[in-house]
Amino acid sequence: MDWKSAFEEIEKIKQEAQVEINQAGDLSQQETWRVKYLGRKGRLAVLTSLLANSPAEIRPKLGQAVNELKNYLQALLKKVSKEKKVSRKGKNLSLPGKPAISGLLHPLTLTTRRMVEIFVRMGFGVYTGPDIETDFNNFEALNMPVDHPARDMWDTFYLNQEGTLLLRTHTSPVQIRVMKELTPPFRVVAVGRCFRRDLLDASHSPVFHQLEGLMVGKRISFAHLKGILIYFCQELFGKQTRVNFTPSYFPFTEPSAEVSISCVICRGQGCPTCSRTGWLEILGCGMVHPQVFRKVGYNPDEFSGLAFGIGIERTAMLLHGITDIRFFLQNDLRFLRLFT
Ligand SMILES: [Zn+2]
Repeated sequence: MDWKSAFEEIEKIKQEAQVEINQAGDLSQQETWRVKYLGRKGRLAVLTSLLANSPAEIRPKLGQAVNELKNYLQALLKKVSKEKKVSRKGKNLSLPGKPAISGLLHPLTLTTRRMVEIFVRMGFGVYTGPDIETDFNNFEALNMPVDHPARDMWDTFYLNQEGTLLLRTHTSPVQIRVMKELTPPFRVVAVGRCFRRDLLDASHSPVFHQLEGLMVGKRISFAHLKGILIYFCQELFGKQTRVNFTPSYFPFTEPSAEVSISCVICRGQGCPTCSRTGWLEILGCGMVHPQVFRKVGYNPDEFSGLAFGIGIERTAMLLHGITDIRFFLQNDLRFLRLFT
């Protein structure tokens, strides 16, 4: 470079120095910048030595420009290092850190685990099945052929025109899957999501969860059913809980029963939760219908079985005094943090 292009060079340095100082994020990058522009062999130093060799008539003007550049570069550096100091001052490093928020298990998961654990203690295995089921597993094998009036008990989401695929309306189709897979004797529980065409309100949800139980063997009787369910209710709701069996109807069990427990709120005295009856219905059960055994190829004269189904949302609501099923779906952390 000779002195003729020095003025152009000065303008170029100004522009580049400005861009680069803005990109210098930390102290070491600022130092690199300083060496490049203001160092002993930096771009300013090159101009200064050029000045000494320039013709006398140009020297005053060039000297002034070089001096201005020097002031300009020093001002840039000063400004940036001052800004950085201010931002470092603004942080108080002695303050305690923000606590990390850890995830929690959903109250329905916690309730499910409590329920399953009681059955596992009684020797039950745990099974699951798919949300999408065939009409055969969900209805027909459970003694509800097409046009059976009991199908109206479940408003079903069908997934195809033929009506052969659906979102399961209960966990009972897992019973069919288990019976096809296992050889008696066995006892299993199945947990899962179920779907019905209900509108969402305080006590109904189109998506809900069930725990299903099935025990099959030789000479399984209603006494086994009573013993298992009384033990379960008292383990879950407390030893003082009274358990009542009332005759009921389900297509896949015979005889069938509805199970009520003494109200967990008023202890049987009568309150709004139990509609002043002192009792709360919590599950349906019965002895496996011979027709169901035939559908899966079991001989009903050789085997008998018991089955039961419990709503997990309702159980969780009774355990924790929750009055609206929609709380489970809202993902409100204030609600979810109540259950640990
Ligand atoms: Zn009550």
